[in-house]
Amino acid sequence: MNERGVPLFDAHLHLSDYPSPEEVVSLASWCGLGLLASSVDRVSSEKTLGLAQSHARSVLPFVGVHPSEAEKERDVSWLRGALEAATGLGEVGLDPKYSRVERGGAQLAVLESQLEQAQRAGKPVQVHSRGAETACLDVLGTFDLKSVLMHWFEGEDRLGTLADRGYFLSFGPALLYSKKLRRMASSCDRRMALTETDGPVAYAPLGGAHGPSLIPSVVFELARLWGTTFEEARRQVAENSLRYLYPGGKG
Ligand SMILES: [Zn+2]
Repeated sequence: MNERGVPLFDAHLHLSDYPSPEEVVSLASWCGLGLLASSVDRVSSEKTLGLAQSHARSVLPFVGVHPSEAEKERDVSWLRGALEAATGLGEVGLDPKYSRVERGGAQLAVLESQLEQAQRAGKPVQVHSRGAETACLDVLGTFDLKSVLMHWFEGEDRLGTLADRGYFLSFGPALLYSKKLRRMASSCDRRMALTETDGPVAYAPLGGAHGPSLIPSVVFELARLWGTTFEEARRQVAENSLRYLYPGGKG
């Protein structure tokens, strides 16, 4: 991966969910974007690893079990091999929308065994925390993880915890219309901010637009909120992305 050639990332999308991932990769490459491609279960993890093999210059694969799949995929022993071949672990986390997140439930057990493996492998992690921000932070705090991205994080009152722990948070196209996300982007330490689209999620307030080509608009909005030029915001986010991926620096 040549990070100088691909300075900006869509730090969280589900490339394997697109009917034609190749088209998404081509468009992203044309925009100068790298893709951190996330997975939700064993099948999508295998697909994502395959896509990264075919597009090694622009796709960095993340493998794992999403909270929505935890009941079905309680055995994550397959993850060890997949994680060796992957850039990192994701999308993992907790979400009360799918099943209970308390101890004794599948979600917490699956999350903990995945985090154990990421800790052992020394790989970055992407965390889904919708409706369970504090519970996720509590679990994460019990591990010694290389680097952590709180994807589409909405725990406005927990930004200080993220900053204290050196975590990153990613802003997506919802930043273009969400007052809460705008407040968070304005007040957070700029060195924490990454950009993502969660593609193929489509954004109704943006006319159903989706995918990595929205990243420059998100950077533009960050620049507006931070009072910087587009180029300054772009460089900040690009540097943040590299610190997230290679926390010890990359030789
Ligand atoms: Zn996602």
